[in-house]
Amino acid sequence: MWRSLLAFLSVCFVLAFAGGARAAGPCHTNTDVWGDEALVNAGSAYGMEWAPFGATEYGWMAYAPLIQQELHTRCGPGTPIFASQLAGFQQTHGLAPTGLFDAATFQVLRGLWQERRPFVMARTRGECPDPPPINQLGYLVASEEHADRLTRLLRRDVLDAYRRLVAAARAEVPEVAADPELLQIFSGFRDPEADAARCAQQGNCDGLRRAVCSPHRTGTAVDLYVGQAPGRGVDSTAAASREVMARGATYRWLVANAGRFGFVPYVYEPWHWEYVRPWDPSFAP
Ligand SMILES: [Zn+2]
Repeated sequence: MWRSLLAFLSVCFVLAFAGGARAAGPCHTNTDVWGDEALVNAGSAYGMEWAPFGATEYGWMAYAPLIQQELHTRCGPGTPIFASQLAGFQQTHGLAPTGLFDAATFQVLRGLWQERRPFVMARTRGECPDPPPINQLGYLVASEEHADRLTRLLRRDVLDAYRRLVAAARAEVPEVAADPELLQIFSGFRDPEADAARCAQQGNCDGLRRAVCSPHRTGTAVDLYVGQAPGRGVDSTAAASREVMARGATYRWLVANAGRFGFVPYVYEPWHWEYVRPWDPSFAP
């Protein structure tokens, strides 16, 4: 039932985009050259069957905001400008410049995104960063905590950067200004010992990652509320859930602007952001 409904919706979207590809506007220049590729991308964005993170997913709209940001375009996946920019990216990274989105191109993009996370780079070196000394952690205020899961602490400089980010988002995104829940934090600093204990006692190991070495131990990782799909959790990794988050104005703003405040994304979790500005030890709270 759901599958056939999804297939029907995909066809509707493809038709909508097909119409769009012939439409006018700055995203639809170059139609003569990249029009066919735009049509293929419009279809695959909603229907491509693949498994970028192990489980089967359909389409790649959950990743579209990050991909558009990387391609320096606001034009959607079904436009000739997107195809043209994608071909340029592929060329730069030693891939065939087809202008068509595919799993190989995603792997290159994913590698770039992961390399921007010092925590991930440390893990690839076999290191697990130490938690900060407790006196470098600061308390959130109640209005910054999401009701779903209370979290108390972040590294102080990260908390300051987070507050600057939220103030800017409130000023720039009507959706955020209208809903105080958006961008609230549902996980910040997590004490590794408490995580390990929870893993051992409750079997709540977050796929073992949490117990082994979570980026949340650094006090620089934040899980931000960016909306949720009906009936799903705030951190549901279901593809449909992540796609709903990715469509929202809040996430799109984060993708384009969080870097101004020192935060980088984690592609698989639209809510998870890591602060990467070098920490200044002379920082005075
Ligand atoms: Zn997280």
